[in-house]
Amino acid sequence: MRKVYLDYSATTPVKEEVVNAMIPYFTEAYGNPSSLYTAGLTAKDGVDKAREQVAALINAKPSEIFFTSCGTEADNWVLEGVADKLKSKGNHIITSKIEHHAILHTCSYLEEHGFKVTYLDVDSEGFVNPADLEAAITADTVLVSIMMVNNEIGTVEPIRELAQIAAKHGVLFHTDAVQGLGNIPIDVQELGVDFLSMSAHKIYGPKGTGALYIKQGRRLSNYMHGGAQEKKHRAGTENVAGIVGFGKAAELAAANLENHREHCTELRNYFWEKLKERVPDVSLNGPQDLAADRRHPGNLNVSFDYIEAESILLMLDMKYGISVSTGSACSSKSLEPSHVLTAAGVSIVKSNGTVRFTVGDFTTKEDIDYVVDAMSTIAAKLRELSPVAGMKGWE
Ligand SMILES: *Cc1c(COP(=O)(O)O)cnc(C)c1O
Repeated sequence: MRKVYLDYSATTPVKEEVVNAMIPYFTEAYGNPSSLYTAGLTAKDGVDKAREQVAALINAKPSEIFFTSCGTEADNWVLEGVADKLKSKGNHIITSKIEHHAILHTCSYLEEHGFKVTYLDVDSEGFVNPADLEAAITADTVLVSIMMVNNEIGTVEPIRELAQIAAKHGVLFHTDAVQGLGNIPIDVQELGVDFLSMSAHKIYGPKGTGALYIKQGRRLSNYMHGGAQEKKHRAGTENVAGIVGFGKAAELAAANLENHREHCTELRNYFWEKLKERVPDVSLNGPQDLAADRRHPGNLNVSFDYIEAESILLMLDMKYGISVSTGSACSSKSLEPSHVLTAAGVSIVKSNGTVRFTVGDFTTKEDIDYVVDAMSTIAAKLRELSPVAGMKGWE
């Protein structure tokens, strides 16, 4: 059976160049970067080079990049670290309703520990309104955290404008840029953010490696306690091979950014045109204007009326070898409707029929034609079985 992977926002395959860059750090340069003999120094050189490569992708200084075990750790660290550092100054944090669970669940944890959190609404396309942020800031606000690109519906938030508002009020600003990295240009100087989270496995690097950008001079409490790694800010022996792979992936992402965006946008737009032609009663969630600067270039989030996304997912997988996700990977195992779709005003029933397709560097036009054919057959079959198909007011 043919295999088509359309879940690049869940994770990406690791590029061959990345694997090749990593291998020597398992087999030859396996020293501990903290050791002072040659084998340790070679490993340290690998980590230092990766720090430069990751910094270059977001126009930061290498000294502002701190490696973590994943994007989730970077998110936890910044929220808990800032909350702890500034708790005598204030106990209020502002975020949005459509953040990744790495942010939302950390916020709930902080709420249990005396913090107040404001969750900003979004409009029907998933955009946070800067005026809402301005209105929510109080004398107790210590941190604003708004994601750069939403992982489910692809909305690209106005980070520069939001960060400026926070700065105007003397409030620190963090963005979870895991879905933005490698997909849209990121320049931390221009954006004016204080903290930014990243992950390697969403940009063709290995799983289990992430980073937090900390603007020079910004202070937050440590999250991991132990040795003196990462200038005493993140303890634990470095995942050297993983970090080297992240560096290589970042270098490739910087070099390929424009090609990557064009390739994904073109395929994604073609996909949506064909899908609309072949499958009736579908609607697009997230930004309606498919221009790449307001929507993740590879994201297509579609509601199929009258049918269940779980059935679509299973049929695509078992009968056609196609991998997609329902809503988001994190909510796909629960029957709760996606918090992102709900926040964007999508009804629960419509939300239950929603599939997220994300294309990437290895997706081809033939893949899309194959998936559109499969979707056309599957939607027709499932609708034949659906008691509400074609009913007015089925929602
Ligand atoms: C994937 C993802 C994360 C988590 O990153 P991990 O490295 O998998 O922990 C955080 N935020 C967003 C927006 C993501 O898409």
